[in-house]
Amino acid sequence: MELLEIEIFKNYIKKLNIPLDVVETKTHTLEQLAFKYDLFLIDAFGTLYNQNYFVYPGALEMYKYLKKKGKALRLLTNAASQPVEKLLKDLWLMGFDFSREEIISSGNLLAIENKEWKIEEAYYLGHDAGISFLESASIAFSENPKDPVVIVSAVVFEKERREKALEILKMPGAKLIVLNPDPWAPRLDGTRQPVSGAFAHFLSKQTHCETYYLGKPFPSIFSSVLKTTPKSSKAIMIGDTLGTDVLGAYAAGIDSALILGRNMPRADITKDEQILGIRPTYYLII
Ligand SMILES: [Mg+2]
Repeated sequence: MELLEIEIFKNYIKKLNIPLDVVETKTHTLEQLAFKYDLFLIDAFGTLYNQNYFVYPGALEMYKYLKKKGKALRLLTNAASQPVEKLLKDLWLMGFDFSREEIISSGNLLAIENKEWKIEEAYYLGHDAGISFLESASIAFSENPKDPVVIVSAVVFEKERREKALEILKMPGAKLIVLNPDPWAPRLDGTRQPVSGAFAHFLSKQTHCETYYLGKPFPSIFSSVLKTTPKSSKAIMIGDTLGTDVLGAYAAGIDSALILGRNMPRADITKDEQILGIRPTYYLII
C-alpha cells in the first residue's frame, strides 16, 4: 500500500472504532466457500470488472457457479460515480445478469442518510452521471449551497472546481460527504491509482471539515443488505481490498474472502495485513 493509503485506512479504522482481532487466514476455493455460505456479497470494481468491459479471469465463472448453486448474491459497490441503471447495463454486457435489487451502491445510501441530515443543496465533485444520487436524495446541485455541504464521488482535476469545494469546506460547520471511500484502485495495466477516497482525504485534511463516509468499509452498506436477507443466512464478502471489503465485513460481523493480485499485490499482503492489523477469513483462489 502507498503511505497515504495506509493513513486513509487507519483513519477508517479509527472512525469505525471497533477492536480488531487478527484471524488466521485460510486459503479456500470457491467450491469450499459455496459449501459453507449461502449469501455472497461481492465487490464490483477490481473483483468482477475494471472499467466497462474488462472481466478478470475467473470472475464470470465465479458468478455463474454461485448462481448455479442457488446462492443469494448481492453486489456491494462503492462506484457511486455512475447510476445503478448504468452499472446494471454494463454488467449485463459483460455477462453478469444481476437484478436491480441485487445491486447496492454506496450512492444509494445518500437518500437514506439524508432523511436525517435533511440537506437541500450541495456542491458536487464527481462525474456528471453520479449527480443522479443527489437527485434521488432530493439534494439540488448548487455552486453556492445555503449550508456548506460538498459531496464527492470521484477525483476532479479542474482547478476551479477544487478551489470552489475548498472554499465551501472552509466555512464554519462545513460537511464533506464521501460517496466512494476507496482510496486507491487498480488500473487495467496492473498499476494502481489514487481515486475518490484519496481525493476526499485531501479535501478533509486541507479544511478540517466534518467528513462522512458512505460505502465500504462503513456499516450502513452492509446493514442495508443484511436487513433484507434472512437472519439465518451465512454471509461472506468477496473483494479485492483489505481496507474496504475485508475491514467492512469484519466491522459488520461477517466473514470475508480476499482475491489477491488485483488491488492487493501478493508480495505485499503480509506486510499490509500487519500494518492495518486485519486479515481476511480466507484468501480465495479463482
Ligand atoms: Mg474493489
